[in-house]
Amino acid sequence: MEIKYLGTAAAEGWPAVFCTCEACKRARALGGKNIRTRSQAIVDNTVLIDLPPDTYLHVLREGMTIDAVESVLITHSHQDHFYPMELLMRGEPYAHQPGAPVLTVYGNDKVEAAYRMAMEMNDSPTLHAQLDFKRVMPLEPVTLPSGYVVTPLAANHAKDENCLVYLLEKDGKCLFYGHDSGSYPEETWDYLRGKMISLVSFDCTNVEAPDGNYHMGLPDNRNAKARMIREGCAGENTVFVINHFSHNGKLMHEEIVDCVREDGFVVAYDGMTVEF
Ligand SMILES: [Zn+2]
Ligand SMILES: [Zn+2]
Ligand SMILES: [Zn+2]
Repeated sequence: MEIKYLGTAAAEGWPAVFCTCEACKRARALGGKNIRTRSQAIVDNTVLIDLPPDTYLHVLREGMTIDAVESVLITHSHQDHFYPMELLMRGEPYAHQPGAPVLTVYGNDKVEAAYRMAMEMNDSPTLHAQLDFKRVMPLEPVTLPSGYVVTPLAANHAKDENCLVYLLEKDGKCLFYGHDSGSYPEETWDYLRGKMISLVSFDCTNVEAPDGNYHMGLPDNRNAKARMIREGCAGENTVFVINHFSHNGKLMHEEIVDCVREDGFVVAYDGMTVEF
């Protein structure tokens, strides 16, 4: 399995859209891995995870085409993870793609409401034939047309929404995509027990500061990694990635890398690919 990180920032991006703080100034000056767009990933160039407003930028920057993608998993309705208006560009006359598959959007009730609201603004004659929505529930696996078994699990994030993290399994590999979430609810731990995760992607919004109840920082990442190993759902071959960084965490990419040298965490950056 392969995951490509298309965007690795929190909601505001880094440098943040309107921000002039020191961390944003440094990121602008240094460039490179310090330029972080809103969160999105693609698995095996087949399954998209989240649809942020930076999707178009990601497609341009990576030289990708996403017309053949059949599945997009949405973690929650926050605007840095789901910008449903972009979906309107999938129908005629905005996209000419004869024979393209239906794109199915998977998400919770709040994501579905945002999706339906966007669809009501649709003036394309072909859009509804191009798109579908499937509501998913924690602990209820779905099998994608591409063969991935996807299990939505409860996140610990916005309290007014059933935010999800996802477990993707195929060909003996297992990816745990843990964004956005603080320390995972016990029901999620109960499900993870008995799995052997090949790659974990931890929320590290706060970088050095702990949070645990909405996002994570490095102290929470360290605790979660230790518990995964203790519970037997991660082992010596498990890759641990930290991702979804906020400018309020202040550290530049290389400084985060220095911080986690002992922890064995891979620090995500935009465009990073990990095979596992
Ligand atoms: Zn986010
Ligand atoms: Zn800033
Ligand atoms: Zn969020």
